[in-house]
Amino acid sequence: MKRVFKFGKGNCDGNKSMKSLLGGKGANLAEMASIGLSVPPGFTISTEACQEYQKNGKSLPEGLWEEILEGLEFVQEDMGAFLGDSSKPLLLSVRSGAAISMPGMMDTVLNLGLNDDVVAGLASKSGERFAYDSYRRFLDMFGNVVMGIPHSSFEEELEKLKASKRIKQDTDLTATDLQELVEQYKNVYVKATGGKFPSDPKKQMQLAINAVFDSWDSPRANKYRSINQITGLKGTAVNIQTMVFGNMGNTSGTGVLFTRNPSTGEKKLYGEFLINAQGEDVVAGIRTPEDLDTMKNCMPDAYKELVENCEILERQYKDMMDIEFTVQENRLWMLQCRSGKRTGQGAVKIAVDMVNEGLVDARTAIKMVEPQHLDQLLHPQFENPSAYKDKVVATGLPASPGAAIGQVVFSAEDAEAWHAQGKSAILVRTETSPEDVGGMHAAAGILTARGGMTSHAAVVARGWGKCCVSGCADIRVNDSEKSVVIGEKVIYEGDWISLNGSTGEVILGKQPLSPPALSSDLETFMSWADEIRKLKVMANADTPEDALAARKNGAQGIGLCRTEHMFFASDERIKAVRKMIMAVTHEQRKAALDLLLPYQRSDFEGIFRAMDGLPVTIRLLDPPLHEFLPEGDLEQIVGELTSETGMSEDEVYSRIEKLSEVNPMLGFRGCRLGISYPELTEMQVRAIFQASLSLSNQGFTVFPEIMVPLVGTPQELRHQVNLVHTVAKTVFAEMGSSLSYKVGTMIEIPRAALVADEIATEAEFFSFGTNDLTQMTFGYSRDDVGKFLPIYLAQGILQSDPFEVLDQKGVGQLIKMATERGRAARPNLKVGICGEHGGEPSSVAFFAQAGLDYVSCSPFRVPIARLAAAQVAV
Ligand code: PEP
Ligand code: MG
Repeated sequence: MKRVFKFGKGNCDGNKSMKSLLGGKGANLAEMASIGLSVPPGFTISTEACQEYQKNGKSLPEGLWEEILEGLEFVQEDMGAFLGDSSKPLLLSVRSGAAISMPGMMDTVLNLGLNDDVVAGLASKSGERFAYDSYRRFLDMFGNVVMGIPHSSFEEELEKLKASKRIKQDTDLTATDLQELVEQYKNVYVKATGGKFPSDPKKQMQLAINAVFDSWDSPRANKYRSINQITGLKGTAVNIQTMVFGNMGNTSGTGVLFTRNPSTGEKKLYGEFLINAQGEDVVAGIRTPEDLDTMKNCMPDAYKELVENCEILERQYKDMMDIEFTVQENRLWMLQCRSGKRTGQGAVKIAVDMVNEGLVDARTAIKMVEPQHLDQLLHPQFENPSAYKDKVVATGLPASPGAAIGQVVFSAEDAEAWHAQGKSAILVRTETSPEDVGGMHAAAGILTARGGMTSHAAVVARGWGKCCVSGCADIRVNDSEKSVVIGEKVIYEGDWISLNGSTGEVILGKQPLSPPALSSDLETFMSWADEIRKLKVMANADTPEDALAARKNGAQGIGLCRTEHMFFASDERIKAVRKMIMAVTHEQRKAALDLLLPYQRSDFEGIFRAMDGLPVTIRLLDPPLHEFLPEGDLEQIVGELTSETGMSEDEVYSRIEKLSEVNPMLGFRGCRLGISYPELTEMQVRAIFQASLSLSNQGFTVFPEIMVPLVGTPQELRHQVNLVHTVAKTVFAEMGSSLSYKVGTMIEIPRAALVADEIATEAEFFSFGTNDLTQMTFGYSRDDVGKFLPIYLAQGILQSDPFEVLDQKGVGQLIKMATERGRAARPNLKVGICGEHGGEPSSVAFFAQAGLDYVSCSPFRVPIARLAAAQVAV
C-alpha cells in the first residue's frame, strides 16, 4: 500500500479527488501542480499512515521511513538542493492537513533542515541576515511544536536582546544580533529539555513528522472535531514541501486571498499581503497586513500570474477558493488552495453569480450553500444601526457578520462557564488561539484586538456564522485585571456590549436586535431549490403573525397549529381556559368552553386568511391540563383560582389534586382529553368550521385539516373522527354551506406506528410527531433528558441529541415502517412530520428519502428545510 505521494510541476501521484487519503491540503497541492501551476515540490504522507502511526503506539510503522526518504530523494533531484547540504541547502516545511480543514488546530514546522553548518551555507548564498533570521525562527517553531518548549521562552530572549540593543522592531535586528539570538535560543533548549537542539536534519524531519501525527490526537484538535461533529476521518496527512521564502527582501512577500469576498460574495480578489515576510506572519495576525494593491504595485508580474491562477482554479474547482501564496524574488509560488469558507450572504451571492457567469448550473449551485448558511442569513441584525452611532467606542474589522449582544468575559473558560449559566457572553481577547475554540463557540460574539480578516478568530467565527470583530486596534485588553481600555472608557467583566460583525463596530450597552432582511439573490437561489425538491415544506405556526412569517419564508401551508398556544395570548383567555379545566361538571365545562369559542374562532380566521389557498393542519388540544394552572406555591395558586373561578377553596384544592400528575408527558393529554371531555373537541371543531366557512364565504380558499394528537389505538382515533364529522354536519347545516376537509392523526406513540395499517383506515393523513415519538422510543422524558444527555454525548454513548437530529436507526425505522403500512392500507395517505426534526438538514434528507410528502418546521427554519430537501434531490 502506497503511503507517500509526491507532487511537483507536471509530476504528481495525487489529485483533488484524493482528499480522504492525502488530506485537503495534500490533494489540492497535487491538483495545482498537475494542472501546471508553480507549486514548490514536495510529498504527502497519507492519512492512512497517520492511522497506522496511532495504532503503532505513536511511532512510524515499518517501512514508512524508507518511503519518506524516497520522497525526499524526488524533491532533492527536482530542486538540485539537498537536505543538510551546506553548499546547496534544501529547507522544508512540514505541515498537517486532514480531509476536513481544521484551521490552526494541528501543527506546522517551517525552515526545517537548518543547523550551524547549513545556516552558514545559506548565509553565503542568500545573505547573513536572512539566514540567521530563518534559523532563529526555526529554532523557536521547532522548539515549540516538536519539543514542547513554550514559545514565550524564546520570545523573552528576543525581548531581552531588543531591550539591550534599544531596538523596537524585529526588523531592526542586525545579522550579528540574530546570530547572538540563535545562541540564546539554543540555550533555551538545554534549559527546557536538558538536551541540545537536534542538529541532524533527517532527525529533525522525523521528529517533526511525529509531532504532526501527534497533533492529530491533541486535546484542542479533539475538541474542535467534537464541536464541529467531525467524525470518521483516518487522521492527518503530513505535507513535506520545499520552502520558498517571502522574507528575502522587498521583491519577496507572502499573502492569502479569497477569489471572491467571503463575507459579501462580491466578485473581487479579497486578501492580504505582507512584503518581506513569511506566511505565518499573516495567518497568526502578528503583523497587520496590507491589501493586495500593494502587491499589484510592487510586483506586477507576480500579481498578474496570481490573478490568472485564481481564474484557473475557480474554473477547475467550480468554486470560490482560499489561496496561500508566496513571492520569492519576484517569482510566484502557490502554497495552498482550498474551497473558501464563507458567510451565508457570501455563499448565496457566489452561487447565484457563478450560475449567471455560466461557471456552474443551478443543480450544482444548490450544493454550494449549506443549510447552516441560511441559518446565518436568518440571524438577527441590529434594529437601527444609525441610532447607536454615538455609542460606538471602537471599530475593528468586520470579520464575521451578524449582530451580537452580551456581557464581556476575558477567557475562553469564562465564556464557557457563563454560557453554561445561560448568560450571553462576548469573548474579548488580544488575539484568539486554537486553545480558545471551546469558549469561542460558547460566546455570543468575539472581539479581538489583533489579527486580520484571515486570523484565527475571523476564520473560525465565520465558519460557525458567529459574529466577530477582529483586529480592533483601539482596544487594550488587560487579562489580569479583567478589563479593556478603549480610549477614555474602561469596560469590566460583566459589562454589556454589542458587536456589529458586518461593520466592525463595538458598541456600549445592549442594542435592540431585529430579524434580517432577505435579499433578491436569496430569492433567486431559493426558487432553484424549490424547482428541484420534491418534498413539501410546511410550517409549525400557531398565530396569524407566525403564519404570515412562515408564508414569507416559503411555507406551503401549516403542518402543525398547536391550538393551546393561543390560550396564553391574553388574561381573559387564560382565565377562560382555567375555568374549563377546573370545571367539575359537564355543564360548568360547557359554559367555560362557550367563552373560549369566539377566541378560537377568530384565531383560526386569522390563520386561514394568512394561508389563503394553502392547507392548514390544526391539532386538537394536546398538552396535559396542569400546564395551564398558575405558577407559584400552592397557596398562591389556590388563591388565584378561587377568585378567578368563584369556586370555594375546598373545591379548588380537590380539583388541583385531581389534575396533578406524576408523569404528565405520559399522562392525561392528547386525544385522551378529547375522549374524556368530548365537549372540548366539539368546541374546537366548531370553531374551526365556523372560521373556515366564514372565510370561504368571504372568498378565501380554505383547506382545513384536523389532526388528532397522541393516538395509540384505532379506536381512539375513530372516536374523535366520528365526533369531528358529527360537528361538521351540524355546523354546515347551521351555516347553510359546506366545504371539504381532512381528518388525520399524529403518529407519536410507538404503538400507533406498529398498527399504522389499522390507524390508516381511520386517518386521511399521518403526521409524525417526532418529539414524542423520540421520547417514547428511547424512553427519555423530554423534560428531563438534559440531566444525562451531556454525559451521553461526552462519552459517545449518543452521537447527537436525538431530540435535535433524528435517530434514523430506531425512530427512523418506525417512521419508514408506519409509512409503508399506512400506505398499504390507504394508498393516497398523505404523510408528513411536524416534530423539531422537520427543520434539521440531515433529518430532512432522511424524510425525503423515506418518501414522506412533507416536513413541517418553525417558520424561520422553512428556508433551511427547503434547501435541505433540494440538496437531497440532487
Ligand atoms: C411532537 O411530538 O413531535 C409534536 C410535534 O408535538 P408536541 O411537540 O407539541 O408534543
Ligand atoms: Mg407531540
